[in-house]
Amino acid sequence: MNTSPILRVLLVEDDAALGEQVRAGLAEEGLVVRWVRMGRDAIAARTERYALVILDLGLPDIDGWDVLRHLRSQADVPVLVLTARSDPTSRVRGLDLGADDYLTKPFWPDELLARVRARLRRPQLLRSNTLRVGDIAIDLERHEVHVGESLVALTPGEHALLVALARRPGAVVSRRRLAELALDADADERHLDAHVSRLRRKLGSAQHAIETVRRVGYRVRESW
Ligand code: CA
Repeated sequence: MNTSPILRVLLVEDDAALGEQVRAGLAEEGLVVRWVRMGRDAIAARTERYALVILDLGLPDIDGWDVLRHLRSQADVPVLVLTARSDPTSRVRGLDLGADDYLTKPFWPDELLARVRARLRRPQLLRSNTLRVGDIAIDLERHEVHVGESLVALTPGEHALLVALARRPGAVVSRRRLAELALDADADERHLDAHVSRLRRKLGSAQHAIETVRRVGYRVRESW
Protein backbone atom coordinates (compact mmCIF):
# COMPACT_ATOMS: atom_id res chain seq x y z
CA MET A 1 0.00 0.00 0.00
CA ASN A 2 1.50 3.26 -1.07
CA THR A 3 0.07 6.49 0.26
CA SER A 4 1.71 9.34 -1.56
CA PRO A 5 2.75 12.25 0.61
CA ILE A 6 1.91 15.83 -0.27
CA LEU A 7 4.91 17.25 -2.04
CA ARG A 8 5.40 21.00 -1.83
CA VAL A 9 7.45 22.92 -4.33
CA LEU A 10 8.71 26.46 -3.86
CA LEU A 11 8.85 28.31 -7.19
CA VAL A 12 10.91 31.52 -7.26
CA GLU A 13 10.34 33.30 -10.57
CA ASP A 14 9.59 36.95 -11.29
CA ASP A 15 8.50 36.46 -14.91
CA ALA A 16 4.68 36.40 -14.74
CA ALA A 17 4.03 34.40 -17.92
CA LEU A 18 6.74 31.82 -17.35
CA GLY A 19 5.91 31.54 -13.66
CA GLU A 20 2.27 30.86 -14.39
CA GLN A 21 3.14 28.26 -17.01
CA VAL A 22 5.48 26.44 -14.61
CA ARG A 23 3.04 26.75 -11.71
CA ALA A 24 0.20 25.27 -13.77
CA GLY A 25 2.38 22.41 -15.03
CA LEU A 26 3.51 21.50 -11.50
CA ALA A 27 -0.05 21.70 -10.17
CA GLU A 28 -1.16 19.28 -12.90
CA GLU A 29 1.47 16.87 -11.58
CA GLY A 30 -0.33 16.96 -8.25
CA LEU A 31 2.28 19.11 -6.55
CA VAL A 32 1.42 21.87 -4.10
CA VAL A 33 3.14 24.97 -5.43
CA ARG A 34 4.02 28.14 -3.60
CA TRP A 35 5.05 30.78 -6.11
CA VAL A 36 7.02 33.83 -4.99
CA ARG A 37 8.44 36.55 -7.23
CA MET A 38 11.14 37.99 -5.03
CA GLY A 39 14.40 36.67 -3.64
CA ARG A 40 13.54 38.05 -0.21
CA ASP A 41 10.36 35.91 -0.16
CA ALA A 42 12.43 32.83 -0.99
CA ILE A 43 14.84 33.64 1.82
CA ALA A 44 11.96 34.15 4.25
CA ALA A 45 10.33 30.82 3.29
CA ARG A 46 10.83 27.82 5.56
CA THR A 47 12.64 25.76 2.96
CA GLU A 48 12.68 22.58 5.02
CA ARG A 49 8.94 22.29 4.30
CA TYR A 50 9.56 21.87 0.58
CA ALA A 51 10.51 18.81 -1.41
CA LEU A 52 12.08 20.97 -4.10
CA VAL A 53 12.94 24.60 -4.84
CA ILE A 54 12.88 25.93 -8.41
CA LEU A 55 14.95 29.10 -8.44
CA ASP A 56 15.32 31.69 -11.19
CA LEU A 57 18.72 33.34 -10.86
CA GLY A 58 17.65 36.68 -12.37
CA LEU A 59 15.46 38.20 -9.66
CA PRO A 60 14.56 41.88 -9.26
CA ASP A 61 15.65 42.35 -5.66
CA ILE A 62 18.40 39.93 -4.63
CA ASP A 63 21.01 38.23 -6.78
CA GLY A 64 19.92 34.62 -7.37
CA TRP A 65 23.35 33.34 -6.37
CA ASP A 66 22.88 34.91 -2.95
CA VAL A 67 19.46 33.31 -2.65
CA LEU A 68 20.98 29.93 -3.58
CA ARG A 69 23.75 30.34 -1.03
CA HIS A 70 21.21 31.21 1.61
CA LEU A 71 18.98 28.23 0.80
CA ARG A 72 21.97 25.92 1.01
CA SER A 73 22.94 27.23 4.41
CA GLN A 74 19.41 26.52 5.66
CA ALA A 75 18.45 23.08 4.41
CA ASP A 76 19.37 20.21 2.14
CA VAL A 77 16.33 20.73 -0.05
CA PRO A 78 17.10 20.03 -3.72
CA VAL A 79 17.38 23.19 -5.82
CA LEU A 80 16.75 23.30 -9.55
CA VAL A 81 18.15 26.51 -10.99
CA LEU A 82 16.70 28.39 -13.96
CA THR A 83 19.22 30.59 -15.64
CA ALA A 84 19.47 32.75 -18.72
CA ARG A 85 23.22 32.86 -18.27
CA SER A 86 24.89 30.42 -20.56
CA ASP A 87 28.52 31.10 -19.70
CA PRO A 88 30.29 27.86 -18.78
CA THR A 89 31.43 29.09 -15.39
CA SER A 90 27.82 29.39 -14.24
CA ARG A 91 27.43 25.67 -14.06
CA VAL A 92 30.47 25.08 -11.90
CA ARG A 93 29.60 28.05 -9.72
CA GLY A 94 26.06 26.78 -9.29
CA LEU A 95 27.24 23.30 -8.37
CA ASP A 96 29.73 24.77 -5.95
CA LEU A 97 26.88 26.61 -4.27
CA GLY A 98 24.86 23.42 -4.13
CA ALA A 99 22.41 23.53 -7.03
CA ASP A 100 21.22 20.04 -7.97
CA ASP A 101 20.19 20.69 -11.52
CA TYR A 102 20.12 23.38 -14.16
CA LEU A 103 17.90 24.56 -16.96
CA THR A 104 18.97 27.34 -19.27
CA LYS A 105 16.23 29.62 -20.57
CA PRO A 106 14.41 29.29 -22.87
CA PHE A 107 13.36 25.72 -22.10
CA TRP A 108 10.36 23.59 -22.91
CA PRO A 109 7.95 23.32 -19.96
CA ASP A 110 7.88 19.54 -20.53
CA GLU A 111 11.62 19.44 -20.00
CA LEU A 112 11.29 21.20 -16.66
CA LEU A 113 8.52 18.84 -15.57
CA ALA A 114 10.63 15.83 -16.54
CA ARG A 115 13.49 17.15 -14.38
CA VAL A 116 11.12 17.78 -11.48
CA ARG A 117 9.68 14.28 -11.75
CA ALA A 118 13.18 12.80 -11.80
CA ARG A 119 14.05 14.65 -8.60
CA LEU A 120 10.86 13.82 -6.75
CA ARG A 121 10.85 10.15 -7.68
CA ARG A 122 13.80 9.64 -5.42
CA PRO A 123 12.67 7.78 -2.33
CA GLN A 124 15.03 9.88 -0.22
CA LEU A 125 12.59 12.75 -0.62
CA LEU A 126 9.73 10.88 0.97
CA ARG A 127 11.06 11.76 4.40
CA SER A 128 11.55 8.23 5.54
CA ASN A 129 13.67 7.89 8.64
CA THR A 130 16.11 5.69 6.79
CA LEU A 131 18.22 6.82 3.87
CA ARG A 132 19.46 4.05 1.61
CA VAL A 133 22.21 4.21 -0.94
CA GLY A 134 23.11 0.82 -2.33
CA ASP A 135 24.13 -1.36 0.65
CA ILE A 136 24.33 1.63 2.99
CA ALA A 137 21.38 2.25 5.31
CA ILE A 138 21.37 5.35 7.51
CA ASP A 139 18.87 5.42 10.36
CA LEU A 140 18.35 9.14 10.93
CA GLU A 141 16.59 8.77 14.26
CA ARG A 142 19.07 6.42 15.84
CA HIS A 143 22.11 7.91 14.12
CA GLU A 144 23.14 4.44 13.03
CA VAL A 145 24.75 3.40 9.80
CA HIS A 146 24.78 -0.14 8.46
CA VAL A 147 26.59 -1.49 5.44
CA GLY A 148 24.72 -4.66 4.68
CA GLU A 149 24.28 -6.30 8.08
CA SER A 150 27.27 -4.62 9.76
CA LEU A 151 26.96 -1.62 12.02
CA VAL A 152 29.54 1.04 11.18
CA ALA A 153 30.77 3.34 13.96
CA LEU A 154 31.10 6.91 12.68
CA THR A 155 32.06 10.13 14.39
CA PRO A 156 29.36 12.86 14.38
CA GLY A 157 31.29 14.67 11.64
CA GLU A 158 31.55 11.58 9.44
CA HIS A 159 27.87 10.86 10.02
CA ALA A 160 26.95 14.42 8.97
CA LEU A 161 29.04 14.07 5.82
CA LEU A 162 27.40 10.81 4.84
CA VAL A 163 23.87 12.08 5.52
CA ALA A 164 24.44 15.25 3.48
CA LEU A 165 25.61 13.17 0.53
CA ALA A 166 22.99 10.44 0.87
CA ARG A 167 20.12 12.89 0.97
CA ARG A 168 20.81 13.83 -2.60
CA PRO A 169 22.24 10.83 -4.44
CA GLY A 170 23.91 11.76 -7.69
CA ALA A 171 24.10 15.46 -6.78
CA VAL A 172 27.41 17.09 -6.00
CA VAL A 173 27.59 18.57 -2.53
CA SER A 174 30.12 21.38 -2.44
CA ARG A 175 33.31 21.22 -0.42
CA ARG A 176 32.29 24.35 1.44
CA ARG A 177 28.92 22.90 2.43
CA LEU A 178 30.48 19.63 3.56
CA ALA A 179 33.15 21.42 5.52
CA GLU A 180 30.50 23.49 7.29
CA LEU A 181 28.61 20.36 8.21
CA ALA A 182 31.42 18.09 9.20
CA LEU A 183 34.27 20.20 10.53
CA ASP A 184 34.67 22.48 13.49
CA ALA A 185 34.02 26.13 12.71
CA ASP A 186 37.72 26.97 12.67
CA ALA A 187 38.87 23.90 10.75
CA ASP A 188 40.30 24.30 7.29
CA GLU A 189 38.38 23.10 4.24
CA ARG A 190 41.50 21.10 3.32
CA HIS A 191 40.86 18.81 6.30
CA LEU A 192 37.71 17.69 4.55
CA ASP A 193 39.56 15.21 2.34
CA ALA A 194 41.02 13.46 5.38
CA HIS A 195 37.53 13.13 6.87
CA VAL A 196 36.17 11.70 3.65
CA SER A 197 39.06 9.20 3.46
CA ARG A 198 38.32 7.98 6.98
CA LEU A 199 34.63 7.74 6.18
CA ARG A 200 35.36 5.70 3.05
CA ARG A 201 37.62 3.32 4.96
CA LYS A 202 34.92 2.73 7.55
CA LEU A 203 32.35 2.02 4.85
CA GLY A 204 34.51 -0.88 3.67
CA SER A 205 32.85 -2.66 0.77
CA ALA A 206 30.61 0.39 0.16
CA GLN A 207 33.47 2.90 0.03
CA HIS A 208 33.15 3.41 -3.72
CA ALA A 209 29.72 4.94 -3.17
CA ILE A 210 31.49 8.24 -2.44
CA GLU A 211 32.86 9.83 -5.54
CA THR A 212 35.24 12.78 -5.68
CA VAL A 213 34.34 15.62 -8.05
CA ARG A 214 37.63 17.41 -8.38
CA ARG A 215 37.77 20.91 -6.93
CA VAL A 216 33.96 21.00 -6.57
CA GLY A 217 32.93 18.49 -3.94
CA TYR A 218 31.71 14.94 -3.45
CA ARG A 219 28.67 12.92 -4.35
CA VAL A 220 27.30 9.48 -3.67
CA ARG A 221 26.44 7.15 -6.48
CA GLU A 222 23.37 5.01 -6.25
CA SER A 223 25.14 2.01 -7.69
CA TRP A 224 28.83 1.20 -7.94
CA1 CA B 1 13.93 36.55 -13.99
